[in-house]
Amino acid sequence: MCFTPPRFITRNQTFGAFASSVPTRPLLGALQTGVLWDHRQQIEISFMSGSSTRQQRKKTRKIFRKIFRYTNLDLRWVKNGCGHVRITFHDDIPSQSHLGTQCLSVPKDLWTINLKSIQPDTECPSPLEERTIRHECMHLLAFVHEHQVPEWPNHFLFDQSKLDEVYGGELGMSEEEIEVNITNLSPPEMLENYSPFDPKSITLYHFPSHVMQSGVGTLYNTDLSDVDKAVLVLNYARLNPGPLVPTWTVSHAADIIGIKGQWRENIVAATHPHDVRKLYSQWSASSERSQQGGTRKA
Ligand SMILES: [Zn+2]
Repeated sequence: MCFTPPRFITRNQTFGAFASSVPTRPLLGALQTGVLWDHRQQIEISFMSGSSTRQQRKKTRKIFRKIFRYTNLDLRWVKNGCGHVRITFHDDIPSQSHLGTQCLSVPKDLWTINLKSIQPDTECPSPLEERTIRHECMHLLAFVHEHQVPEWPNHFLFDQSKLDEVYGGELGMSEEEIEVNITNLSPPEMLENYSPFDPKSITLYHFPSHVMQSGVGTLYNTDLSDVDKAVLVLNYARLNPGPLVPTWTVSHAADIIGIKGQWRENIVAATHPHDVRKLYSQWSASSERSQQGGTRKA
């Protein structure tokens, strides 16, 4: 679960400095405009000094490495507290992450990702830990919540009183936190590109059936969906797929998303990742995509 301040960032807005040493809840957002990492950018990640065990670091590093395989980004683990991205494990603060390059604006003595409930003494991640670490890593890569994309209401409608009862009462979220993390939709102009609605996305909260008007809840996803992977590949494209994920070519990603015809040919023929991202974004806003329906993803 992720908590954010009660407002959305605007295009290219940088994240303001925290006023105190007590970590303030950062902004979140699915892929969002202005916070995508540059192609082949080196991202240095570290753990905050004294805040973690070997097992927590090991589980986190393993899952982050697996996700970065789908991108052209250069993941570097650096010594405690020195990275662009700084991870901590506070159990009394909800899991959360700055969105994409927002973390570059956070003062160096503060963390940028908090991972709650990562057990300090177990070697293998539990399903909850898998879900938590992957979800926050996708925010780091600029993904926003699937349940906050503009077309969400076309697929699910909340029962607001039940939602407040569960998230406000049982889980202790404030009204603002519920709005910012669950019910506020990301403005379309702030999102970069689209994919079909993806109920298997790791960025989707698991909502129980009784908070939905339909009586049907969302899945408890613990891994990236194929659409999540495809969106990563199209936004951070490599000329050749990562050696550990050899099937994840740009053409395979385009097929997973459902890009067809001349759009697909152009994206597959692109020779620079800038062009793949740009063409994918243009396709997302095109009438062809609209005819397929679906949800704005990133
Ligand atoms: Zn989240």
